[in-house]
Amino acid sequence: MMPVAVPYGRKTQKTPKVEELHILWITAGLGCDGDTVSITAASQPSIEDVLLGAVPGLPKVHLHNPVLAYEVGDEFLKIFHQAARGEVDNFVLVVEGSVPNEKLSGDGYWAAFGTDHKTGQPITTNEWIDRLAPKALGVIAAGTCATYGGIHAMKGNPTGCMGVADYLGWEWKSKAGLPIVNVPGCPVQPDNFMETLLYLLRQLAGAAPMIPLDDALRPKWLFDMTVHQGCDRAAYYEQAQFAHEYGSRKCLVKIGCWGPVVQCNVPKRGWIGGVGGCPNVGGICIGCTMPGFPDKLMPFMDEPPGARISSTLVAPYGYLIRNLRRLTNSTLNKEPRWRHNRPERTTGYDPGKPEALYPL
Ligand code: SF4
Ligand code: SF4
Repeated sequence: MMPVAVPYGRKTQKTPKVEELHILWITAGLGCDGDTVSITAASQPSIEDVLLGAVPGLPKVHLHNPVLAYEVGDEFLKIFHQAARGEVDNFVLVVEGSVPNEKLSGDGYWAAFGTDHKTGQPITTNEWIDRLAPKALGVIAAGTCATYGGIHAMKGNPTGCMGVADYLGWEWKSKAGLPIVNVPGCPVQPDNFMETLLYLLRQLAGAAPMIPLDDALRPKWLFDMTVHQGCDRAAYYEQAQFAHEYGSRKCLVKIGCWGPVVQCNVPKRGWIGGVGGCPNVGGICIGCTMPGFPDKLMPFMDEPPGARISSTLVAPYGYLIRNLRRLTNSTLNKEPRWRHNRPERTTGYDPGKPEALYPL
């Protein structure tokens, strides 16, 4: 039998450290599944790209998400039970929705997922986290509810719910030494989540260093700048041109935009394929990625208190600069005087003295 020829370029291919990986995704926190729905809109990479291995050198991924799975009922739950028994070598746990305080639920439960075959009782979401987190290579909190509590953890809620790091501890580390990775957003921006997942896959493959996270456990490259820094209305702010009603193209700070003090890349990135967003397309930023969301940002449609000071201070500067720019702009809107169809050349062309052209 002839030996099979192996292309020379094959030597660029490296076997990942973790060859196969399961993603166990629990949507049974106090949530709306909006983050799961959101990531189906991702393209950098898409879920299909990750599952079909479009990026070479990464682990083969099996996704177990109840909204997207083929399996249903017990068949779907099988892998979760196997992982809890320690029978799944490599998995990452993704939690979506806030984690209720079951110490407050009395005889019942706030949230559960599947049934315990021995007791016949529902298995609470908290119990799943207790069973699975210690065995996972990593834990990702998807969306603001899972990261920081979010809307369900508002003042006055009956469940006393919280984020995954509040539940497991902010210093918690996985058996692979990874901290909890928080990808906030309500919902999470599709590519933000998939990019973070891709980073972790690269890390688990041995092809990337420890994921860089900030103090709130957010990926730094996605959340280290403010909405305002990436908002294409910031020039209106600088020139003190503020909207007083919705539908205006000006800066929205006076009608409730919290962009200057919120960390999020949505206006810079767009929502899907660069299209959409929040203040960039006319919707006030309500700070949905922030640990203080929503209580510290409500009522949403009022001017943020700090904005009054900055918008007042910027007003004289903005007025002056706007008028100076208008002057310069009007000169730039006129063509130079030597562009004409008269019979004489007035361009300053002199073959003997080319340097005479500048300055004009
Ligand atoms: S709309 Fe919001 S984010 Fe955009 S420039 Fe104004 S304050 Fe900043
Ligand atoms: S821009 Fe503001 S409202 Fe929009 S996703 Fe980011 S934090 Fe949320």
